Amino acid sequence: MNETVPMKPEEIVSKTYCPLPFNHLYVHPTNMASVCCAFQKGAEKRGGLPNIKDYKNLGDHLNHPFIQDIQQKMLKGEKVDGCATCYYAEEHGYQSMREKEIETWHIETFRDFTPPDLENPKLEFLEMTFGNYCNLACRTCHSDLSHSWIDDEAELTRRGVIGNPLIETFDCETPAPLKVTVEIFEPLDGKWDVSKFEMKNNIGKWIDCGIVAIVGQNVTSNGLSNHSVGSEVRVTLTDNTKVGRMNIEKEWHPDDFKDLQYIKITGGEPMLHPDFPKFMAQLEQQNVYCFIFTNASWVPKKRIFDMLKDFKFLQVFLSVDGTGEVQEYMRHNAKWDTTEKSVRKWMEWSVTMPNVQIAWAPTWSLMNASYFVEICNWWLGLTKELLRDKNWNLVKTNFIYGPSIYQMSLLPSDTKENLKSKALEYIEELKNGDIRMSELIIEMTEAYIKFFDKNSPKQDEDLAGYHKITETLDEMRGQSLKKMIPLTYKAMYEIEKK
Ligand code: SF4
Ligand code: SF4
Repeated sequence: MNETVPMKPEEIVSKTYCPLPFNHLYVHPTNMASVCCAFQKGAEKRGGLPNIKDYKNLGDHLNHPFIQDIQQKMLKGEKVDGCATCYYAEEHGYQSMREKEIETWHIETFRDFTPPDLENPKLEFLEMTFGNYCNLACRTCHSDLSHSWIDDEAELTRRGVIGNPLIETFDCETPAPLKVTVEIFEPLDGKWDVSKFEMKNNIGKWIDCGIVAIVGQNVTSNGLSNHSVGSEVRVTLTDNTKVGRMNIEKEWHPDDFKDLQYIKITGGEPMLHPDFPKFMAQLEQQNVYCFIFTNASWVPKKRIFDMLKDFKFLQVFLSVDGTGEVQEYMRHNAKWDTTEKSVRKWMEWSVTMPNVQIAWAPTWSLMNASYFVEICNWWLGLTKELLRDKNWNLVKTNFIYGPSIYQMSLLPSDTKENLKSKALEYIEELKNGDIRMSELIIEMTEAYIKFFDKNSPKQDEDLAGYHKITETLDEMRGQSLKKMIPLTYKAMYEIEKK
């Protein structure tokens, strides 16, 4: 008798195959159709993915030529430009979203797996957002997802701390001491501002030469005092278009949801959005599995529970990254007392509902890594007190690798070694204890230990970026890393900068 050997994700269909372009649509907070939340937005723009208002019904998405091209590439095992985030994760030892989706859609049911039906694609999985309304401005987020970031982002851009710079390069046409003038390709009267003019010196280092004039498309600098014809010049442009408050606009039709099996609802903060009730009312909840994410910064009332109670199955993911001031610092505008009340209320409700499960969805970064044990114990304490026999078996762990300035690997070596040994002791303590379901926390702790060593390929640049953005945001938000998260301050300033 042949022993069945489970297939590895990459052996299913092809090495680049992912279920999402065959069954899924991500409704991006800008109202644009998107392949998935990880797909690169520039590639979608170039591929012509439309505003979702342009689809007669949402299922049309799977017949869009750009999506069909992705499907063909994946079936042939070719790489897809916009999937770089997943390829990066796989090359660097992280589990990619592609691998997670293969697990969700195929591994458990692999015996029934059939190649995707390209003639009759079905929109079975929708990720829904309602725009960028969010009451928080978490350190790791941005204005596309949270309108509370808009002003801070504008200020950080004005101060030159962030921006998606575009770099144009030239050869210098004038020798020193003449000024250097270059003609910029991108229009300077609208979208782009010139933020830097640099020249490469004779040892290959880029030197900021300053800007003396901008006239029309021409930017002039004094250049290096000894520059010569042919020296390299680069000009950095930053996007000055401002993101505003965005709402999803579409007249929904029952056909939009006819094949729907799974809906994931993400943010912004979806349940606080005024369009949430109307949208929820039109879903045939009893046929659908729902995964919904909340920042737990508000306490849910019966009205919200009533809108969610009829799903075939509902998982509520609580994005809580710390206790007390750790949470308040990382998830700006959050108040810890309210967060804790919110978590309790969700748990108490789930105990009364056989179809509802509460999951903890922390995101680990260098900001909260030093508080890992304390935060896990808070969660375990609550589950013991409130969930008792309820099967709450879900912890959805995220380890930050983007924005790369917050990766745990940037902590100094001494700190990392110290935290790893504390984590090992913690695993032993949990193994020898009698806390129900602690194996999930053990699993997370094992992953946490491994993530310290996933080194950033641009360590120095990331560290400099971390310090710059932390100091500027602290000043702008009236927060203090030193007072609010002292262990992280110690690691990143007293040890790292020593
Ligand atoms: S491979 Fe990754 S980026 Fe590409 S569609 Fe799948 S999940 Fe999205
Ligand atoms: S709660 Fe979510 S959407 Fe809101 S700022 Fe935080 S990460 Fe962004």
